[in-house]
Amino acid sequence: MHVQHFIDGKFVDSLAGRRFETVNPSTGQVIATVAEGDAADADRAVQAARMAFESGPWPRMRAVERARVLHRIADIIDRRKEEIARWESTDMGKPIREAIGFDLPRVALNFRFFASFIEADHDEAFNRADALFYVRREPAGVAALITPWNFPLMLASWKVAPALAFGNTVVLKPAEQSPITASLLAEIVAGAGMPPGVFNVVHGFGPSAAGEALTTHPFVHMVSFVGESNTGRAIMKAGSATLKRLSFELGGKSASVVFDDCDLEATVAGTVDAIYRNNGEVCLAGSRLLVQRGIYDEFMERFTDAASRLRVGDPLDPETQVGPLVSQEHLRKVRGYVEIGVEEGAALLTGGKTPPVLAGGLSNGNFLQPTVFGNAKNDMRIAREEIFGPVQVAIPFDTEEEAVAIANDSPYGLAGSVWTQDLKRAHRVAAGIRTGTVWVNCWFVRDLRVPYGGYKDSGIGREGGAWSRDFYTETKTVVIGL
Ligand code: NDP
Repeated sequence: MHVQHFIDGKFVDSLAGRRFETVNPSTGQVIATVAEGDAADADRAVQAARMAFESGPWPRMRAVERARVLHRIADIIDRRKEEIARWESTDMGKPIREAIGFDLPRVALNFRFFASFIEADHDEAFNRADALFYVRREPAGVAALITPWNFPLMLASWKVAPALAFGNTVVLKPAEQSPITASLLAEIVAGAGMPPGVFNVVHGFGPSAAGEALTTHPFVHMVSFVGESNTGRAIMKAGSATLKRLSFELGGKSASVVFDDCDLEATVAGTVDAIYRNNGEVCLAGSRLLVQRGIYDEFMERFTDAASRLRVGDPLDPETQVGPLVSQEHLRKVRGYVEIGVEEGAALLTGGKTPPVLAGGLSNGNFLQPTVFGNAKNDMRIAREEIFGPVQVAIPFDTEEEAVAIANDSPYGLAGSVWTQDLKRAHRVAAGIRTGTVWVNCWFVRDLRVPYGGYKDSGIGREGGAWSRDFYTETKTVVIGL
């Protein structure tokens, strides 16, 4: 398979002809060559998007007409769901049950939701005796959308759908580790009748390559980025000369706070899911497990038992719960943290090794057993830094105040969860935790109408519903003298 850029309605190779390979993380085998974009390819895509914005039909269409195209995209995604899910799983190691059960339905929903949103949206007017003021929400321009590898199509569509819905034109730069489904999306968008130049995809790397070129390009109006906090810093710097409008969804080190009055069974299940879902490669992962001392021993015994029983293996097997990590480099990083945890004196309760059961081609895959550290301290590196793999770090606490203080003692502020049967405590702790989302007795429950984003090093801005509209549109006031 060869994966190309999608520019001005056509699949094309890089101008310089360069390519890179994408590898199946389960086997180490190359599954596709990919066009490797540089600044010239990024420029070509931005110019196409600029033309489509300045003189094409898309920004000028009525909302209901744009919505029709977005609904068609969602319909095609639904029809091709199994095929796309297999590619996602093969390209980045996501368990197929999650790709089919979560990612793909959410991809279609991202398009349907923003299609419905713009159909129902309305502007405000302010009347006065001498003048009428009304507010126009106008498409803002060319959006550069830069996305990571952990939910490749889900996160791409989370950006692409609102950017398009509000009438912008788009250049998407997917992560180089998981490029395949972005090109499938290009095929689908074209098949749904999108005018050329409105949606473009440039493949390649970030620093000193296609990604960075998008962040400095004078005709790119805004950058919506999902990825590491340090990459966010680099993008902010690069975008400052041209004053890009920025939306950042960055790293996390979220706390699952477990009180001794929790529903034990449901909390074990919820907190296991919160760290091992998507192989632990989730920005929202509950990667610090704060457990009240009264139930600490019993809870950790149950948690460790559940973690060690998760089925690790071929992500294409529907029974598999944990697949391989995205790349050898990432596996090395995560294994490095396991060593650091041991050196720091945390108790390795389970995991930390290559699972023994893997036969055949899978022996070359990037697999790691679900791992649990107990009796950790919040100042350890394993509790402060984002590991982004199947590694849980449990910290005991005594009081509610202490739990909130530990949860907040982090450079990140993306999310957190509280597990208790005490309603008043649930609200108190939810208010006390300084993160963009707090779940109570649940995790990963999302609704596209609500704001999503992070405090502190976890991001800038919010997207979702009206918050997405605010980011992806310019607001103009028109004043009519009466
Ligand atoms: P990276 O920050 O490494 O990469 C994200 C994207 O940015 C990739 O497409 C990458 O390209 C590109 N990129 C890298 N450097 C630059 C640059 N200088 N200029 C422009 N683009 C650049 O993140 P990962 O892909 O490793 O993803 C994991 C991270 O994403 C974790 O920190 C995770 O927490 C975060 N994340 C946050 C979410 C949230 O909602 N807050 C959701 C999901 C993930 P390439 O890799 O091809 O070089």
